Amino acid sequence: MLTDPAIEGDPLKFLALCEAYWAALRMQSPRRGPAVLKTHARSLGASPAFDVAVCGGTLGLLLATALQARGLSVCIIERRVVQGRAQEWNAADEEVGVLVEMGLLSRGEVEAALVTACGPMRVAFAGSDPLYLGGALDRGVCPATLLVALRSRFEAGGGVILEGTAFRTADIYTDGLAIRVQRGAGGEGADLADAGRPLAVEAAAMAMAGAAPPAHAEGEDDGKGGEEGAAAPPSTTTSRPDAAAREAARTAARAARSTRPTSPDEVTARLLVDCMGHWSPIVKAARPLSKPDGICLVVGTCASGFPPSANAGGGDFLRSVDDASPADDVSWLWEAFPAEGGAARTTYMFAYMDADRRRPSLTHAIERYFAQLCAVEAPGTRLSELTIRRAMFAVLPSYTKGAPLRPPADRVLQAGDAAGGASPLSFGGFGAMLRHLPRLTAGIDDALASGDLSQAALARLAPYQPSLSANALFARAMRCGVGSVLPPPGSGEKARPGASLPGNHINRLLGAHFKVLAALGPGAVGTVVRERTQPALLGASMVGMGIVAPLTIARTLPTLGPGPLAAWFGHYAALVLYSLLRYLTWPLRSLAGGAIAGLAPLSPATPTISPATATAAREARGARLAASGPPGWTRRTVVALRRGLEALDVGSGHDGSAGGVVMLPEPAERAGGRMKEK
Ligand SMILES: Cc1cc2nc3c(=O)[nH]c(=O)nc-3n(C[C@H](O)[C@H](O)[C@H](O)COP(=O)(O)OP(=O)(O)OC[C@H]3O[C@@H](n4cnc5c(N)ncnc54)[C@H](O)[C@@H]3O)c2cc1C
Repeated sequence: MLTDPAIEGDPLKFLALCEAYWAALRMQSPRRGPAVLKTHARSLGASPAFDVAVCGGTLGLLLATALQARGLSVCIIERRVVQGRAQEWNAADEEVGVLVEMGLLSRGEVEAALVTACGPMRVAFAGSDPLYLGGALDRGVCPATLLVALRSRFEAGGGVILEGTAFRTADIYTDGLAIRVQRGAGGEGADLADAGRPLAVEAAAMAMAGAAPPAHAEGEDDGKGGEEGAAAPPSTTTSRPDAAAREAARTAARAARSTRPTSPDEVTARLLVDCMGHWSPIVKAARPLSKPDGICLVVGTCASGFPPSANAGGGDFLRSVDDASPADDVSWLWEAFPAEGGAARTTYMFAYMDADRRRPSLTHAIERYFAQLCAVEAPGTRLSELTIRRAMFAVLPSYTKGAPLRPPADRVLQAGDAAGGASPLSFGGFGAMLRHLPRLTAGIDDALASGDLSQAALARLAPYQPSLSANALFARAMRCGVGSVLPPPGSGEKARPGASLPGNHINRLLGAHFKVLAALGPGAVGTVVRERTQPALLGASMVGMGIVAPLTIARTLPTLGPGPLAAWFGHYAALVLYSLLRYLTWPLRSLAGGAIAGLAPLSPATPTISPATATAAREARGARLAASGPPGWTRRTVVALRRGLEALDVGSGHDGSAGGVVMLPEPAERAGGRMKEK
């Protein structure tokens, strides 16, 4: 299947790349990357050219645009092209609405990016009754369209984008950092970071060479026709890198009023935000030398040619169609989304596991996927009737310690996948960025205005989240250990020594969980699907599961082990404590007329930001910051209190709305074609 030339990029190459990474992770101890940050106890010797340098221009563009809208001068350093992929992100309307609330895009611009309505979303496990949800990942967002709109806002406001420019190292001084970059890196060989954007290298190489991006480029023509999936016009995209590079060099030269020599290979800033994804060179050097605690192995496709009834019935939020077997000790799960406005359908097959050397390869997963795809998605359809537009492979790591990652040095902060802050259950990094965008934006602005960009101050922007840590245990509960699955009853196969889990164990666990959530109501379902775990509901669902499926719970506990279980209780206790403290600190929130906890309003129209106006604006904000606290409070005290109160909101699952999720009746298209339950 993967040799079809109609498939975007070179799927076999990306399969081989991801496979090699997965094999290395399973077979060897991970190696820490080379050190890329160096700290110096002296001044940079010049005024930094930018307030913030955002390295990585995918989710980094969201943050860069939001920071610039607050009056900061921002530069994006991107190895390829700031363009976004064609493969849709799924999120809820409400989540994407934050871009309008923050004044970054108009409602019309957001609507243009919301290209597919996917609902109702089914939750169905072999052996359990299905549920149908509204408001759960039921909108397909075209990343390319979204990023084009944000990019034009960012550039119109004076933001600088350096494309084909790779971050290499950074020297951190007492008053700024000098980032060493490599220009012309756009065409350097594809690696894991490009797996989600298979044409990134080609698009970047062509843009750098001054040619139009490849015909199939991300967002160029997603098969919809019209403007919805279209990226920037080729001429603009093509001219940008050089123009931006020249502009950056001019800006840097203007800003550097001292004798410090400026180099085209150096960008200076007060703060570096690392948005270079899971494989960021800064993250590779910062993570401790251990395997990730969890892996989500994903394969999938976006394809057209399914019968219309497949999309008319909506999508699958989470589904299983069969049980785990001793052949691979994996309980495979499925997700499906109508895509490209209904013209195509995205289907993922994934599983939670550890990085044991005996775990199955991606090749095994994709073969299984293709063998089951038609039966799962559209019984009666043949694989040869489908046109595969895109194939996807991913090995997504999750960590119980260092999630989110503590900033590795002064003046450096991670965001997006690099921060490891997305849920270890959903890996929905786009949704996570939207949820944290207002907090991160205001926090970075405050940090710059207070002048405290120390590691400790920045760590308050990546606070411990008991809810996130508690979820890691759920991901762990949803994996079968190697050698743990019993043969199907009646198969006559002999059980392996130590095997203890029936094949339907994970399906029963998930079935019981969602049954209890449904009984607790849409609010409870909402806290789970929107990843805002709250202690009362978590406690109630745990007790409920113990009542509904006592045997399944009894089987699960030994698979988790005493250490992780004790850690989970610790996180749960922290969740309760955070909720209590949040309640008790309520009077502090109204101190100084709410100025301490309130996010300052964003300016509706961004004036063009230059280093000079940014400095003046930063000074003014610093003065306002000090004035917003009680008499005698310094800027830093005000900022520390704001972050402390926010940490309680985020940590207790109260950092936004979990509402908007509703339960829906079974759509007629599903009723007839429901897959036989076991
Ligand atoms: C198959 C799949 C489906 C997904 N579906 C969803 C979904 O439906 N909803 C959702 O919310 N999330 C989804 N996600 C997750 C989402 O795609 C990621 O969380 C998101 O792309 C992370 O963005 P990022 O900017 O943090 O990292 P990345 O997307 O990895 O981007 C990193 C950027 O940094 C650049 N870069 C790398 N190295 C350097 C360097 N040295 N110098 C400069 N730049 C560099 C890269 O070129 C890239 O542009 C999905 C992920 C996968 C794999």
